[in-house]
Amino acid sequence: TVGAVAVDREGNIACATSTGGLLNKMEGRVGDTPCIGSGSYADNNIGAVSTTGHGEAIMKVTLARLILFHMEQGQSVEAASDLGLAFMKSRVNGLGGVVTVDPQGHWAARFSSLQMAWAAAQKDTLHYGLYTGEHFTQSI
Ligand code: ASP
Repeated sequence: TVGAVAVDREGNIACATSTGGLLNKMEGRVGDTPCIGSGSYADNNIGAVSTTGHGEAIMKVTLARLILFHMEQGQSVEAASDLGLAFMKSRVNGLGGVVTVDPQGHWAARFSSLQMAWAAAQKDTLHYGLYTGEHFTQSI
C-alpha cells in the first residue's frame, strides 16, 4: 500500500490510498482500498485516515471511518487510531496500519501489523519510521 493524508494551510483535508492488493488474491477480488470508509476517508471537520492491512477485516469494521468516529468523540489521532486497530483485532482478528491526521495537523502513524514504513512532513521537518519501528526526525 501507498497511503497518504494531508491538511493544507486553509484546513482542507485529503486522503489517498493505492495498493496492489493481497498476495494470491482471488481473481476479481475488490479489496478495501477503493471502498470509501474502509481504505480511506476524509472530512474537513474531523480529519483523514488511510489504511493498509487485511482488506477483508478492514472492510468488516470500516476502519477509516471508525477511527474518525472516535475522533468525533474527542479522541486524539493516536488514541483513535489505536482504538480502531484494537477493535479490528479483537472483533475480526485483523491486522493493519493507518496514517491519520486532524484539522490542526496532528498526525499519527500506528499499526498492529509487525511493521509499517511511514513518513510525515510538517513545515521544515521530516519524521519517518522504518520497518524497525524506530522514529527518526530530519530537517528538510
Ligand atoms: N489492504 C490491501 C488489501 O487487502 C492490502 C494492502 O495493505 O495493500 O487489498
